[in-house]
Amino acid sequence: MDGVPEGDTVWLAAQRMNTALAGATLRRGELRVPQLAGVDLAGATVREVVPRGKHMLTRFEDGRTLRTHYRMDGSWHIYRPGTKWRGGPAFAIRAILVTDRWECVGYRLHDMALVRTADEDQLVGHLGPDVLGPDWDMAEALRRLRSDPDQQIGVAILDQRNLAGIGNLYKVESLFLSGVHPWARVADVPDLEGLVDRARTLMLANRDRPEQSTTGTLRRGEDHWVAGRTGRPCRRCGTTILLGDQGPDLQERVTWWCPTCQAATSPIDPMARTGEPGRPPRLPTAT
Ligand SMILES: [Zn+2]
Repeated sequence: MDGVPEGDTVWLAAQRMNTALAGATLRRGELRVPQLAGVDLAGATVREVVPRGKHMLTRFEDGRTLRTHYRMDGSWHIYRPGTKWRGGPAFAIRAILVTDRWECVGYRLHDMALVRTADEDQLVGHLGPDVLGPDWDMAEALRRLRSDPDQQIGVAILDQRNLAGIGNLYKVESLFLSGVHPWARVADVPDLEGLVDRARTLMLANRDRPEQSTTGTLRRGEDHWVAGRTGRPCRRCGTTILLGDQGPDLQERVTWWCPTCQAATSPIDPMARTGEPGRPPRLPTAT
């Protein structure tokens, strides 16, 4: 699960980028995607870097905004001048923002766009309330989720138009902790607000560090309840954790769940597969 982009990953990256760049003038500013290849950002002063859901917005004093998105594999690396860049091969570099003090290098970034700051809504206006945003609005998120009551909750909670920032890890972990089957209809989730609040609490707990733990321990192999644990015993009840495919997005449709702790509330029987069918369940060891 390491490296899977979630809202808290982008939030932390934006804080670090903001610390490095806010108020500084770029000595070098290159964007290495075909549609922006002619743009030279040298001389532009960065006003701020802010997260919006899983999007990162770098705003300049001259009224422009650079939007980047991690998707599944992107990252920003920040180096002191003269340090060797280690984020990947040179051909994977999509953006280079250099000041007198820092060199920010974006690898494998996606959806790069440069717009007038006043037109940011063209890029992110479709997003629902930002789970980690200063303007988080639970009521509006619930309204959007409930507008499609027949949708599977495991799909709806990932839909960034409903609420922005939740990725696959916090989806599966909050569903487990709330005892909700991933294929349950939104209308059948007994405590939808509790589920969303649980996901948000997990993200808030992790946003200041690169590690993502949902169990309270950062120890490797013990940091998640169900994510990445196909065929292993549930930490609560010992039942074998299942893995299934869910949703239209090929990149984010893998779902883990415990069929006992997350008993189905809808008459939907997902096609499930276990990763290690020959392996007997072990007794639960962590709580
Ligand atoms: Zn269980």
